[in-house]
Order: sequence, then C-alpha cells, then structure tokens
Amino acid sequence: MKIVSTNYKGKIVVNFIILLSLIVSSPLIVPAWSGKGHVIITRMAVKLLLDDSSIPTELKNILKEGLNGENKVNELKTYVISDNNERVFDHGLDSFSVRPDDLTATKSPVPAFNSTEPLMHYLDSEFFQTDVTRQKFALDGSNKIKPSDLPRDPKDKRYQEAGFITFRTEQSYKSLVSSFKENYSNDQVFLWIGYLSHYLSDAYQPYHSTVDYQGYECLCNQALEKKHNFHPALEGLLFRDKNIVGQKNRAKYWEYFSNEVSKLNTSEKAQLLDPYLVTQDALLSGYDYLPMLCRAADKAFKEQKLDANVWFNYQDKVNNQETTVLQLKAERMAQATIKLKFLILQAWQEANKKVP
Ligand SMILES: [Zn+2]
Ligand SMILES: [Zn+2]
Repeated sequence: MKIVSTNYKGKIVVNFIILLSLIVSSPLIVPAWSGKGHVIITRMAVKLLLDDSSIPTELKNILKEGLNGENKVNELKTYVISDNNERVFDHGLDSFSVRPDDLTATKSPVPAFNSTEPLMHYLDSEFFQTDVTRQKFALDGSNKIKPSDLPRDPKDKRYQEAGFITFRTEQSYKSLVSSFKENYSNDQVFLWIGYLSHYLSDAYQPYHSTVDYQGYECLCNQALEKKHNFHPALEGLLFRDKNIVGQKNRAKYWEYFSNEVSKLNTSEKAQLLDPYLVTQDALLSGYDYLPMLCRAADKAFKEQKLDANVWFNYQDKVNNQETTVLQLKAERMAQATIKLKFLILQAWQEANKKVP
C-alpha cells in the first residue's frame, strides 16, 4: 500500500509516525464475522435464492440488482479462499451488510429503542439471570439463561445495557416487508436485506451472546494484566492471514461452509419463521460453544501470542459432537445463511400477502 507520495525523506518519516500513532490510538473496531464474513453470508443466501427455480423472477431481479455484479455468487469460492480482505464494499447488498458496523463506530443514535447503534449487535444474556451473582460468564457455561428469562419487551430496562439484537433483527425484517410492499426504491430493499443479514449473522457469533465477549474469563487470560481479546480471532482472523497456512484454513473453511449450506438447504423445511425467536435461538445455541472456545484459547495462546493455526484446528466436544473452531465458525455462518434465505423469501411473500 502506498502511504505517502512525497520525496522528502524526513517528511515520509513524520507522516509514517503520524499514521502509526493514528493506528495505535484509534479504538479497535471489530465487526462481527468481519466485513468479509458478513458479505459471504449475504452473497451465499442470495445465491441459494437465485439457484432456486421456485423463486419468483421479480424477486430474483431485485436480488441481482442488489448484488451489483452477478458473478459474485458464481465466484464466491475464489473470494472466500483469496486473501482479499478489503474493507471497501460495492454499493448495494455488500455495503449494506457491513453498514451497521460503520454506524457502530460513530455511535449513531437509534431512537426507536432509545439507544445507540453499538447496542444493536449483541445480547449480554447473563444480565437476565435473576441471581445477581450469576450475571457473569462461568467457565462451564452454567450461567446460560433460559428463553423464558428474556421478556419480549424492548422497554425492559435491562436491554439498555444488555443490547437489542433480538428486537433489531425483528425490526429489520419488518422494515424489509414494508420496503418490498411499498418499494419506493430498490435501494431501500437492499438496505433492509443487508441489515437483516448483519444482525441475524451477529446473533450466530457465540461471543455476541455473553458479557464476556472478549474471552477475558478464560483461564489463559485470568492471570494476565493485559488480556488478550479472542473476539476478533473468531471473526476477521481467518480472512486477515496472508500466509499459506491462512489460505489452507480458508480452503478448509470453504469446504465446511459450503457443505453445511447445501446440507441445511435441502434438509430445512420452509416454515413460518419469527425473526425475533430465530435470533433468540441463535444467541442461546451459540452460548453452548463458549466453554469450548475458552479451552481452545488456553491451548493456542502461549507467551502472549495466539497461534491461529492451533486455535482454528483445536478439536473438542460441544453438545456431544466433535467440532473444531474452524468448523464451528463455518457451521454457525451456514446456519445464519439458511435462516437469512428463508427470511428474505418470507418477507417477500408477506409483502405480497402470500403468508396468512
Ligand atoms: Zn455487528
Ligand atoms: Zn463481533
């Protein structure tokens, strides 16, 4: 990357120092699943709809326009495996899928929930433990809440601290339905598909369901003064790795992801989905992976450094099933993809009054 275009050596050094200090001092912005991850989920869901002969042509045409380049779905594998991790996205579905993270950085207000954008992306579920001593992450995952602990009322004061992701996903879905219905502009449709994709996918990221969203409670972190943040490891790390090992892991990831998508796409029956409950399920099922993610961290984090390859390929049991970190990342993203596909279709049908 070209940083400066001056010939004066001294000036180059000064500019470089300014740049470096900017990088170091700016707050770390961590988009869930990373920008590229969100784009992968959206494109894959669109691909499934375009490949489905039962989908109305009118909907397909809108999706094609939103893709802004139909080849994106045919070249998805190449995009996933490549080390292209640019944070600049095309207009349409790509950019709207990552837009909520830009708004997080600026703490954009969300008056509908009397809150701000950062609170839209997660649920610190332990806040809903009635026993205050259990409002934190326990290494064995035993502070997991029950679905009935979550009141379906955004005015419940606890959400002001715990986060609004369940309501935000539902609101994105409803806004998509009315955008399809009115359709003043396709761009508005793209926005709500992108937002729906974003928040729904965030809910499938296990770290978005807990107060310990950085893995600070993990044993390897407990004794450290400067703790390691494992949140970005599960999101952008795979796409940032420029080494051959990174590429190998991306190829493996693609196998897991595409296989799981095909499997779910044939096995999951279309049924009336409640976007709020889908999001709640995603959060609570993701919570089950947190103890395993801590054990992976303990194994892969040595001498203040995370060995990405050891971390991704760490294998362990969750709900009596063997899984690696890479597999769980792929499977969670595949589940988000399938739910997104069904929700886009359902929103279309609801707008056209084909849903009772
Ligand atoms: Zn997010
Ligand atoms: Zn995140």
